[in-house]
Amino acid sequence: MDIKISKAEGSKLKNLNLVNIPFGRYFSDHMLEADFENGEWKNVEIKPYQPLVLSPSIAAIHYGQSIFEGIKAYKNEEGEAFIFRPEDNFKRFNLSAERMQMPTIPKEIFMDGMRALIDLDRNWIPQHENSSLYIRPFMFATDEMIGVRPSDNYKFMIILSPTGPYYNEPLRIYIEEKYVRAAAGGVGFVKAAGNYGASLYATSKAKKLGFDQVLWTDAVEHKYVQECGAMNIFFIIDNIVITPDLSMGTILNGVTRQSAITLLSDMGLTIEERPLSIDEIIDAYKNGKSIEVFVAGTAVTIALIKELQYKDFSMKFDIEKFEHALLLKKWLSDIRETKCADKYNWMWKI
Ligand SMILES: *Cc1c(COP(=O)(O)O)cnc(C)c1O
Repeated sequence: MDIKISKAEGSKLKNLNLVNIPFGRYFSDHMLEADFENGEWKNVEIKPYQPLVLSPSIAAIHYGQSIFEGIKAYKNEEGEAFIFRPEDNFKRFNLSAERMQMPTIPKEIFMDGMRALIDLDRNWIPQHENSSLYIRPFMFATDEMIGVRPSDNYKFMIILSPTGPYYNEPLRIYIEEKYVRAAAGGVGFVKAAGNYGASLYATSKAKKLGFDQVLWTDAVEHKYVQECGAMNIFFIIDNIVITPDLSMGTILNGVTRQSAITLLSDMGLTIEERPLSIDEIIDAYKNGKSIEVFVAGTAVTIALIKELQYKDFSMKFDIEKFEHALLLKKWLSDIRETKCADKYNWMWKI
């Protein structure tokens, strides 16, 4: 795959301090762009980060054919750069594309393009602890026509954003039982842009009540937990790891989720991927069982939960006692920062 590269004059990095940089606010010097036209991908180009010029009629704006991914690149103490499990994101991107009736993207554009872009903007990968370069590949429909039908033309892009730690504090979570993130048969299992727009109303209500995020429940009975914001949720109850299973198609199959399952079972814990009801959690809490609760996702990695609110019942957890979650968090960040053996070959060297 030929990738045309035009370099930026100078670097915006000169005016930026990469220590403790907030998530998603700053973008690197370059971006990748490719077009899908007449049934094929073309014009693959890396160029200076810049605004797009688009018709107000493009299909993505009106009818929402738009998908994305989130991946992270790290730099170790020796200055070597690595990407965490990008092939899993590549596969999921094409799963999202299929579900949204969009063209899939070839590996040469997604993977080789990402590698070339990061190689060029390598200085943008922060070298500090808990910091990384967030990689945002995305695709959207560009037909200039109003009408509900799949677009013929699309744009694929990758942009890069340096980032520090996402949540510094353990989370307080509100269990949502009215609004719904995903229902069986819907698009909850893919990273379709509309999912996130649809989540904002409930999330902002929870924030007004002083919570950090909502824990979504199932669309039918509001009885089973699903995901927490845009992160997968885990409970460890009396040393058994429980996380909602993927069978209904309402849960995003997180790369961090998969990684957590692998490492927790390597630590000797039993993993149960199955429906988990709020009643079961409350029973365990009332019976004084040991409970660890945390979320997993690329942006946060692993974030601990210190409080769950269900109706007017509040469950508080002692995060100092989260033995396994803390070990997992440390192990995962050591792998990502290449401070320990990468026994599962998750790190992809640039
Ligand atoms: C992206 C995302 C996750 C986490 O997936 P990762 O691959 O671990 O980043 C979980 N839930 C939702 C809804 C998401 O969009």
